[in-house]
Amino acid sequence: MKKRGWLVWCPDEVVSSVSDIHPTWLVQQGVQAVLLDLDNTLVPWQRVDVPESVRQWIGEMKRAGLRLCLVSNTRRRRRLEVLAKRLGIAYVPRAFKPRRYGLRQALQQLKATPEQAVMIGDQMFTDVWGGNRMGMRTILVLPMARREFIGTKVSRLLERILLWAYQRTGALKQGAGTLATILASKK
Ligand SMILES: [Mg+2]
Repeated sequence: MKKRGWLVWCPDEVVSSVSDIHPTWLVQQGVQAVLLDLDNTLVPWQRVDVPESVRQWIGEMKRAGLRLCLVSNTRRRRRLEVLAKRLGIAYVPRAFKPRRYGLRQALQQLKATPEQAVMIGDQMFTDVWGGNRMGMRTILVLPMARREFIGTKVSRLLERILLWAYQRTGALKQGAGTLATILASKK
C-alpha cells in the first residue's frame, strides 16, 4: 500500500544494521527482491572494503533465494561496479533516488513487482522516500559511519525528528523503547 502525505518518508522498520534483517523473515512476508543502497548501508561512505558481517549477511540472503540489486546515487560508477562484482549482485548506477526511474530499472533486472520487493537504505529522503513512492516495503538502517557528505548531516537531524514523530503517532510500528535502543546503538 502506498504511503501518503507526511508518511512518504516513514519506513516500515528501523534496524541498527543490515545484519539485523533476517532473510527468512523477508521471505515469510513474500519478499523476493531486495534493493540495497550502498554508501553507509553496506560500506562506510566512499570506502571499498565490505565488512565481513555484511558479506556474510549477503551470502545468507542469497541462500534464502532472495534476488539482490545495488541501487546507488553515487557518481563513482567504477567503484559501484567493483563492489557489485565483488559481492556478486546486480546494480543500477546513477539511480537518482528518490526518483522512481532507477528503482524501476532494479525491479526489471530482478523480475519483481513493487509488492515483492523491499528497499533497504540509510536515508529517509532518498532510499525510504523512493521505495515508498514505488509502493515497496522500506527498511531504514542506521548509517555505518558518521563521516559523510555535509548536506547529509543536516538531513540526519530532520530524520531523527520525523522518526520520533512517526513513532509517537503510531505510524512507525516500533515502540518508543525499541526505537530509542536502536538509535542509541550507533552513537
Ligand atoms: Mg546511503
